[in-house]
Amino acid sequence: MLDTKNVLNWLNDFADVIQKNKAYLSELDTPIGDGDHGNNMNRGVIAMQTEFAKTPPNTISDVFRITAMALMGNIGGASGPLYGSAFMEMAKAAKETNELPTIIQAGLNGIIKRGKATCGEKTMVDVWAPVSKSLLANQLTQQVIDSAVESTKPMMATKGRASYLAQRSIDHLDPGSVSSGFLFTAMLRNIL
Ligand code: ADP
Ligand code: MG
Ligand code: MG
Repeated sequence: MLDTKNVLNWLNDFADVIQKNKAYLSELDTPIGDGDHGNNMNRGVIAMQTEFAKTPPNTISDVFRITAMALMGNIGGASGPLYGSAFMEMAKAAKETNELPTIIQAGLNGIIKRGKATCGEKTMVDVWAPVSKSLLANQLTQQVIDSAVESTKPMMATKGRASYLAQRSIDHLDPGSVSSGFLFTAMLRNIL
């Protein structure tokens, strides 16, 4: 069951994991991107935590809205507006329901609307889509998250910066899928 407290715990846990893995995420972004994904995400989650401290949110929707604004305004790279759209749609959905599967599905739709990626294009959609599907079926496990992240390795990127590399993008994990994996692992730990 979602409440303001466990949603805040989830996102603060995610922020800690991002900060610990900043170098790793930027390393993943080096061969197939511009080497900044960890630094981008780190700026976003620090801004998010600063906002939580400054204006403590009172509703689940407010937590997601503050997260959306902080990520959209501070990440800088392509992942900023994508995560921002996800959390903004989650904020809207959370006004109508506190069912996690419905909220995550709204987040996925926000990413797709913004970035126009479909499954198999080696983007964070390759993690959000299977996670959303498993949640709706009440079957989300760590294994589902890990295999979704791993599934991006053999893919050839056809969206985002990695798509400039065409064939050479094969055999690398997608950095935005790895950070999304961290988000859902923290969700499993704090909510489900
Ligand atoms: P940038 O590419 O601008 O440097 P980041 O490095 O922060 O931005 O983020 C790159 C990540 O964004 C990719 O690993 C991928 O998961 C995600 N991404 C890029 N384009 C799209 C898109 N159109 N739809 C969904 N996700 C995308
Ligand atoms: Mg990058
Ligand atoms: Mg960049």
